[in-house]
Amino acid sequence: MTAAPGEFDLIGRFFRRTASLPAEVLLGIGDDAALIDWTPDKALAVTVDTLVSGVHFLPDTDAFKLGHKALAVNLSDLAAMGAEPAWATLALTLPRADEAWLAGFSHGFFSLAARHGVTLIGGDTTRGPLSITLQVMGTVPKALALKRTGARPGDRVYLTGSLGSAGLGLKMLQGSFPATDPDLIRCQEMPQPRLETGRCLRGLATACIDVTDGLAADLGHILAASGVGAELQYDRLPLADPVQAYCRTSGDWGFPLQAGDDYELCFTVPAHREARLIEVMTAGGVPITRIGHIVAATPPRLTVWRGTDPLILTRTGFDHFADA
Ligand code: ADP
Ligand code: MG
Repeated sequence: MTAAPGEFDLIGRFFRRTASLPAEVLLGIGDDAALIDWTPDKALAVTVDTLVSGVHFLPDTDAFKLGHKALAVNLSDLAAMGAEPAWATLALTLPRADEAWLAGFSHGFFSLAARHGVTLIGGDTTRGPLSITLQVMGTVPKALALKRTGARPGDRVYLTGSLGSAGLGLKMLQGSFPATDPDLIRCQEMPQPRLETGRCLRGLATACIDVTDGLAADLGHILAASGVGAELQYDRLPLADPVQAYCRTSGDWGFPLQAGDDYELCFTVPAHREARLIEVMTAGGVPITRIGHIVAATPPRLTVWRGTDPLILTRTGFDHFADA
C-alpha cells in the first residue's frame, strides 16, 4: 500500500509553479510568508492560515480565545519573517449568527490587533461549519527579511521560549492527561506571537521559522530549504517542568519535538554574531536557548542526541494528510 501523500507533497505537486514567478514576487511558496516588492526599501509580507473547528481547536473553545488565536498564529508567521504587521482580512464561516460568540471572538481579535497595530481591512462572512481564515500583511526591509534558506554549517540553532507546553496543554483540554495546569492551557489557547524577537533578529539570524507543527518538522523545513543538516542536544531543549515529567513518565521523549502549537521562533545564527544576539535578546526579555548547531549534510537531516545515542523520532510533526 502506498502511504497517503502529506500536506507538503500536495502543495508541491499541485500548487508550486516556481518557473513563472513575476519579478515583483521576491519570495513565493515555501516560507512563512510571501514577499512582494513594495517600496524601494520594503517588501510586503503576506501570510494566510485557517483554523477549523475540531482540527485546530476544540468545538467548545471560548470565542475570545479563538479570536486571539486566529490572529496570533498569523502574526507568528510574520514574526518568523522579521516583519511588522499592518493589515488583515478575515473570512469567517459560522454555523449560526450567535451574537454572544461574535462579541467574544471580535473582542479577542481586536485586543491582540490593537497591541500590534493591525487594522482589519476586509473579509468574507458565510454560513457553514465553523472555520476561520485570516490573512495578515505587513512590511519588512527587503534586505533584512528572515527566510528559511540561509542556514550554513557552523551556525548555532536557537529557540525562543519553551517546547511542548502547548502540546501538553492540549492533552489536558482533551482529557487525555490526568491533570490541569493553567499555564500550559494558556500556552495552547493564547499563544503570544514573537514579533519583537523577529524584528530584533533582522541582520542577526541566517534563517528563521515559527514552530507550529513540531520543532523536528519545522526545523526540517529550514534544513531542506538551506540544504544543510542539524545536530541538537536533547538535554538543552527548554522544557517546562510538567513537560519534562510527562516525557519521563510516558517514555515519549520525542513529544516536545513533535507536539505542535508552540509558536516559538527557531532560528540560526553564525558564531561570530552570538555575542550581539545575547546582548539584544537580554534587553528584549524573551528567553532564548541554544539547542544545537548546523552541519553539512546531503540529503538534509536532523539528529537529536540524547547523551551519546540518537533519539529515534517516529514522526517529525503534525501533517494534515499524512496523519489522516
Ligand atoms: P506555515 O505553517 O508557515 O503557515 P505552511 O506549512 O502552512 O506554512 O505552508 C508551507 C508553504 O506552502 C507556505 O509558503 C504556504 O504559503 C504554502 N502553501 C500552503 N498551502 C498552499 C496552497 N494551497 N497553495 C499555495 N501555497 C500553499
Ligand atoms: Mg510558519
